[in-house]
Amino acid sequence: MANPTIVLLPVWGAGHFMPMLQAGKQLLASSSRPLSLTVLLMLAPTAQSASDISEHIHREEAASALDIHFHHLPDVKLPTDHSGVEEFLSRAVQLHVPHLRAAIIGLTCPVAALVVDIFCMPALDVSRELAVPAYVYFTSSAAMLSLLLRSPALDDEVVVEFKEMEGTLDLPGLPPVPPSVLPGTLLEWKSPTYKWFVYTGRRYVEASGIIVNMVVELEPRVLAAIAEGRCTRGARAPTVYPIGPVLALRPPAHAEEQPHECLRWLDAQPSASVLFLCFGSKGFLTKPQAHEIARGMERSGHRFLWVLRGLPADISRGAGDPSDANLAELLPGGFLGETKKRGLVWPKRAPQKEILAHASVGGFVTHCGWNSILESLWFGVPMLPWPLRAEQHFSAFTLVYDMGVAVPLKVDRKRDNFVEAAELERAVRSLMGGGEEGRKAKEKAMEMMVVCRKAMDHGGSSCASVKRLSEDLLGGAVVLPNV
Ligand code: UDP
Repeated sequence: MANPTIVLLPVWGAGHFMPMLQAGKQLLASSSRPLSLTVLLMLAPTAQSASDISEHIHREEAASALDIHFHHLPDVKLPTDHSGVEEFLSRAVQLHVPHLRAAIIGLTCPVAALVVDIFCMPALDVSRELAVPAYVYFTSSAAMLSLLLRSPALDDEVVVEFKEMEGTLDLPGLPPVPPSVLPGTLLEWKSPTYKWFVYTGRRYVEASGIIVNMVVELEPRVLAAIAEGRCTRGARAPTVYPIGPVLALRPPAHAEEQPHECLRWLDAQPSASVLFLCFGSKGFLTKPQAHEIARGMERSGHRFLWVLRGLPADISRGAGDPSDANLAELLPGGFLGETKKRGLVWPKRAPQKEILAHASVGGFVTHCGWNSILESLWFGVPMLPWPLRAEQHFSAFTLVYDMGVAVPLKVDRKRDNFVEAAELERAVRSLMGGGEEGRKAKEKAMEMMVVCRKAMDHGGSSCASVKRLSEDLLGGAVVLPNV
């Protein structure tokens, strides 16, 4: 009989797809018996995400010696009348469910598990129907997982809307949480996203396990609280496997390969002197905000490498990608000339991981996407959190007040996450200027870097967790009737 396979159901965002595939590869590599990977691909929502993913798949197929198969599910008509990205994804996944079911039934080998992205809860119906163990691949922090698991209880306990609530929230394992940092999805009871969040929290407990792209030593108190049932009203939560940081790092460049222009610019800067600003694969800035950053950076006097992207060309389909910025239009006149010696503004996607790995980078203004956070920790770079959406405000809170790897930045959530130039200048000076607050964050980030690398090393906690997971997957493999 053919080797058992792990079926992956990823969503398309670069920050979801690549790490999930990377985690799957880690599972194959660490399994004591041969396993294969079947990656089921749903219709991509934008031409850009389709091309990013197919490029990635071609690279994988060419480079990997592992047993990985990519299978495109038949096309569906994607929704266009959705209220936000959560609803878009849930409905898109729901439309793919019959094809997912058919694809799994059609497999001619035992199925070890169906591993789904956090947005793919409708797929759990298929796993239940076919009695295939389901696992969730969770692309955020353990703190965020605890919030999701606790959300059905919070929904019952809390009597005013979070946005009107005074005081703080109790999330086991975390310092008291101000409601103002909760994900936007939770702020209004009536919104479809609130319902989605609580629904997702309820469904997570159906999974056999939750695979978290995280390191147990980074959030030990939260993970202990989950394991003790303190987030699930005393009921046993699914087993959590912290297997991170899973990062899709590029192999070192060949000697003859010309380094990226951003890296060449960094080569000419002093060690740990540059503040890197980048807002993820979806982040873009308006002209007034770009002007505030320009003024803030100008006044701070610090060196910077700023990835500045413009408004997406197509924002109607739930996942529009930013456009390349027109710098002359977005930036104040004269700014580029005045800061030429100490700043570079890059208008396109930049090689973020290679930039964070560069010795000249000393701080990172990040939108707090989970992959960006892990990449920053992996390279020991302290952060200035500038959250924009989803769970990023909550992550920013945990970076500063739980992990201690970041200096706070005042972001005005009511004004579309606006940051004033003076506030940016203050925070940049605090992080980069050698003061107490910045020094502590830097020390902690370096400590976390060591923790992350040890965890992934032979015998480290994440390495052990992957091994345990692969054994559990092999033990649970199901032979479907047509095999
Ligand atoms: N990224 C990059 N260059 C850019 C912007 C983003 O390489 O200019 C990468 C970044 O390194 C990370 C991913 O895209 O791996 C973004 O994932 P994250 O979870 O941080 O944020 P998202 O884009 O999902 O909001």
